[in-house]
Amino acid sequence: MTRRKVITSHTGSSTISEPCTTDLSSINTATEHIFSSLPVSEDDSPQLPRLTDLQTGSSTEHDTHLINTSLLIPGRGKPQKDMSIIIKSGKIHSIQSTSSLTEGISKFIPTTTVPVLLPGLWDCHTHLLGATSFNFSELLTTSPPALAGARISRNVHDILMSGFTSVRDLGGYAIEVSKAIVEGTLVGPNIYSAGAAISQTSGHGDIFDMPSGFVTSCLGVRDTQANGFNPAGGPLLLADGEDECRRAVRLLIRRGASCIKVFASGGVLSIADDPLRQQFSDAELRTIVDEANRAGRVVAAHCHGKNGIMAALRAGCHTIEHGTYMDDECISEFKKRNAVYVPTRTVVKLGVDHPELMSPESYRKMLETAKHHESAYRLAVKSGIKIALGTDLGISVPTTHPMALGNSGGELSYAVTDGGMTALQAIEAATANAPDVLGDLGMAPKSGRIEVGYDADLIALSKDPLEDMAVFKHPKNITHVWKGGKLFKSLE
Ligand SMILES: [Zn+2]
Repeated sequence: MTRRKVITSHTGSSTISEPCTTDLSSINTATEHIFSSLPVSEDDSPQLPRLTDLQTGSSTEHDTHLINTSLLIPGRGKPQKDMSIIIKSGKIHSIQSTSSLTEGISKFIPTTTVPVLLPGLWDCHTHLLGATSFNFSELLTTSPPALAGARISRNVHDILMSGFTSVRDLGGYAIEVSKAIVEGTLVGPNIYSAGAAISQTSGHGDIFDMPSGFVTSCLGVRDTQANGFNPAGGPLLLADGEDECRRAVRLLIRRGASCIKVFASGGVLSIADDPLRQQFSDAELRTIVDEANRAGRVVAAHCHGKNGIMAALRAGCHTIEHGTYMDDECISEFKKRNAVYVPTRTVVKLGVDHPELMSPESYRKMLETAKHHESAYRLAVKSGIKIALGTDLGISVPTTHPMALGNSGGELSYAVTDGGMTALQAIEAATANAPDVLGDLGMAPKSGRIEVGYDADLIALSKDPLEDMAVFKHPKNITHVWKGGKLFKSLE
């Protein structure tokens, strides 16, 4: 019988990686370097770092760990057989063939042997909202922030245990929750968050079944009533005109956003807008991008229709989310701008099976957009534009529900079956490509690859995903999870 061991507390590490400062001479001498760095006791024999300290995530001075694997899938590049890596101080310190390891090293360094090792996965499009349906009105009525936070505390645990060591959150309470993860109160992934998603009035983030005055008082950038104490503190933010757009970005940066999210077309889950129509004027979009870029943040744009996609790309948005009606002209603009596409196949594929989670108006739009999404996805894969995987999952229901947070793993197999990627391309889109969604202005960590100097965010699998990508769908197949070099999950 297998026993599930899950680490329930840890000391957090910074969500932004620092440049690797370790002097890494050569792979062949790496193990000697490790030996020489171990503390020496009175009898001159190397002292073992205590495994219990590693497992609880408590920081030891010599937080070193050896992992042997039959198959190493590095995130980018070819898989390699019978490899060993040493992680040290939260980073990948060395990579070498297992046969070249110094004899007896396992006596001195805590060692784990796994069948398959790959970088921790990224979900580049989540919503940590703490709501139990896709009806936006629930956010302002029956999900006050404390309740939302309590639900999310379970979600972030489930996300990490399913092998996702990083998420980019594009509207929710992730900024606040990530503080509890970093300080060690909660177990969860690295979080890179936009805070609130910015919408125009009557846009995808407006709540059409509530009075506009009430919605603006809760979600506006110049609120006067209910949320006046903390504008931009919720999951959505309404702004109209260039001045309000500029203020919206500044408020979100003040809150701690590591990217900015804008709704550049209508959406599905909002009741009364049209996914085919552009939202925000070109000038408003440019203001949002300029203000964000000046602060080192890139902008993620939700877009379905072509007009919104083109407007967002021309304004300089760095990632396009959904991209449902993308065509060849959009693809050329993507290439020109070096933008990244995040398809969010999970929400489209599974949303059509769950009318009970949304209004009838939204469900109608869901069916319509679902007709077009797969061909856009295939076009993008064929074209060779950069793709990073994200699910758009965002509801806090038990993980037995396929659309619950914590069920992101299906996105990798959909990338193969629906997008037309190879298995290795899908893994690359969920690992090595993923940090690029945060741009190159200073917010992206050195993560998503098994390479020397990268963050030691790693997962082990019980089966080879190159033979069956469905392995990612079930957390029980994720046998180990390390985040920042610390072990958080171990199935024995
Ligand atoms: Zn979304």
